Amino acid sequence: MHFFFNFSEDIPEEFHSSENHQPHTECSVCGNGFGKDHYFIEKAFQKTYDKTEFQLTFEYAVCERCKTDMMKSISKESMQNIQDFAMNMGAMPRLKSSEEVEIDMDFLLNHCIASGKSLDDLEEYHLVGIFKNDKLVQLPMVYGESFIEEYSELLSEETKGFFDDFFNNITVLPPTLAKILEDEKPRRPVLI
Ligand SMILES: [Zn+2]
Repeated sequence: MHFFFNFSEDIPEEFHSSENHQPHTECSVCGNGFGKDHYFIEKAFQKTYDKTEFQLTFEYAVCERCKTDMMKSISKESMQNIQDFAMNMGAMPRLKSSEEVEIDMDFLLNHCIASGKSLDDLEEYHLVGIFKNDKLVQLPMVYGESFIEEYSELLSEETKGFFDDFFNNITVLPPTLAKILEDEKPRRPVLI
């Protein structure tokens, strides 16, 4: 993944908490505020059965420290697979500063970064962002189902077990939806 240096945008409302429709203020894992550190948000959506709209399947905001801990919990095998995968996928365009290009935020928030498909053509997607001081500090990323599936296959059984525990403990799920999704397919983050 390529990182911009000077990127700083107001947090798009797509990243707001689905509970109170405000920006996230604390880590979903440890409960601490984010302070001056980076933090990360992942929100996952799936089309409803009648295919008319997307519904949130899970959401979390995680502080830098907890994210580092999460990465330590991922098995060596998974980590190697993920790194190889990322290398093969190719990096984003190399740009020194966000001022060198016009960034179409709306496009980025509505298209899979791996396949280029628009949300209308996806069945499910994950939205991922990196933040600091109440600003979005890297390009927002949307990952569609083909990426999610491929990514999930990279994870070892050990790592999958870890994520099951992770989601059982922290994920924000609307209660009605939680019931529907129970025992359906496993949830996997793409934010590692
Ligand atoms: Zn935390």
